[in-house]
Amino acid sequence: MTFKYIFITGGVCSSLGKGITSASIGMLLEQKGLKVAMLKFDPYLNVDPGTMNPFQHGEVYVTDDGAETDLDLGHYYRYSNSPLSRDSNATSGQIYNNVIKRERRGDYLGNTVQVIPHITDEIKERIVQCAKQEEGIQVVLVEIGGTVGDIESLPFLEAIRQFQNEHENDSLSIHLTYVPYLKAAGEVKSKPTQQSVQLLRGIGIFPDIILCRCEEPLPEEVKAKISLFCNVKRHSVIEEVDVKSTIYELPLKLHEQKLDQMICELLSIPNPQSDLTEWKRMVETIKNPSGEITVGLVGKYVQHQDAYKSVFEALDHGAIAAGVKLNIKRIEADKIKTEADLAGCDGFLIPGGYGQRGWEGKILAAQYARKNKIPYFGICLGMQAMTVEFARHVAGIPDANSTEIEPHAPDPIISLLEEQSGVLEMGGTMRLGAYPCLLRSDTLTCAAYGTEKISERHRHRYEFNNTYRQRLEKHGLIVSGVFEEGELCEIVEVKGHPWMIGVQFHPEFKSKPTAPHPLFENFVSKIVSLKKTEKGNILNASC
Ligand code: GLN
Repeated sequence: MTFKYIFITGGVCSSLGKGITSASIGMLLEQKGLKVAMLKFDPYLNVDPGTMNPFQHGEVYVTDDGAETDLDLGHYYRYSNSPLSRDSNATSGQIYNNVIKRERRGDYLGNTVQVIPHITDEIKERIVQCAKQEEGIQVVLVEIGGTVGDIESLPFLEAIRQFQNEHENDSLSIHLTYVPYLKAAGEVKSKPTQQSVQLLRGIGIFPDIILCRCEEPLPEEVKAKISLFCNVKRHSVIEEVDVKSTIYELPLKLHEQKLDQMICELLSIPNPQSDLTEWKRMVETIKNPSGEITVGLVGKYVQHQDAYKSVFEALDHGAIAAGVKLNIKRIEADKIKTEADLAGCDGFLIPGGYGQRGWEGKILAAQYARKNKIPYFGICLGMQAMTVEFARHVAGIPDANSTEIEPHAPDPIISLLEEQSGVLEMGGTMRLGAYPCLLRSDTLTCAAYGTEKISERHRHRYEFNNTYRQRLEKHGLIVSGVFEEGELCEIVEVKGHPWMIGVQFHPEFKSKPTAPHPLFENFVSKIVSLKKTEKGNILNASC
């Protein structure tokens, strides 16, 4: 089979869920037995999102090979089994950077370097590279960030036009648009969709399938109108009604409307029956929880939808495995003044972060969880805060701190990695990607993983300072995981606490609703069992 390509564009406005839609399509095609690779194009000029503020961009998703990528890759991971690496995300910044580097090298000697063909060629090359990254890939799903009509996405759309022209029978185009309901008129409006498709057609891209994001099911006449004006078959107009209970329902909704079958037919690929039993069971579990828990998430960007996307999702996966509903209490770290601000939580999670704002609030949360024996899960900065808290209040080192917060801290419990001193460039220079970690067998962590050898993804500059290791261990801090080669302490636990674990890496990037990450699963299940004991075996939905 030759490679097949699916291009997904978005129209009318942003935030329509193009990433989740693309991921759902990837998952549905995998259920048809196809090997899928996903690729996200981002039209901004940053080389990667690593240097962007979470308010601007949301989470930065890290791959095994250490690429700092768009958060949509997290959706791809959760829904599909697509390989995810540097080959899975390209920004305009990377594309231009490569072309300009080549120009300086003299690769184009004699020529004027232009958007067409040089930039578009580079974009097309990235599509081919994604297809060839692993043996056996059959379908490449390419999501184009931004909204049709944006100036910056034009080179990507032009490249896709050319690509489709060159692979006429092996590619198809899906357009996700918004069909609003106007309350005052009492009507659903198809005009924005018509105009967005006109824009696309003006560029030379003719959508084969139109996905209509809407709040309520679309009346038949609206679908017929979109079909007529946008020149797609009536059954190729598919609605994507807001899912009420869980976003994991989306693939099922698309399958009900035969989107997967339609794609197979349009691309002339075999269309076997798909087996969605496991996925359906998972969605049913989410819809019928047998209790609920509340986890306090203490961070700087808690009000931002996407800043801790994978953390929220991974916690949810733990809750799915335990069959409970998860409530997240978003706690602004820099607003924590007293312990009262932390009340009402069955567990705490302190996610990764940077900088001083909210640091002391995180330490207070760690102290509160430790003293009250409430489950605590510290990720990256959350692990560092947990360690500094332990040093200050248990090991008798009152001036303990991280040098990220206090560069000349008298007791730098957390300090800059050796390899980081002298690094001046900010972009892509942290300790990034997957590293192996060896677990100590008699620890909670090892019990949770069920193995002694793990590999997890990193994104940080600072590290546990080994000078203090013995002193902290003497007081009951357990180093439960190390990166042997670099002699780095990667995981800590507190002796005698029911579940207080801090990890220097980011386990949230490797969790799926159908395969929760062991630490998240174990954390939630510990919370549930403690709550059951506390409530005399009743995990009451209203408590
Ligand atoms: N700021 C810390 C460091 O660089 C933690 C990073 C993180 O939480 N991702 O080490």
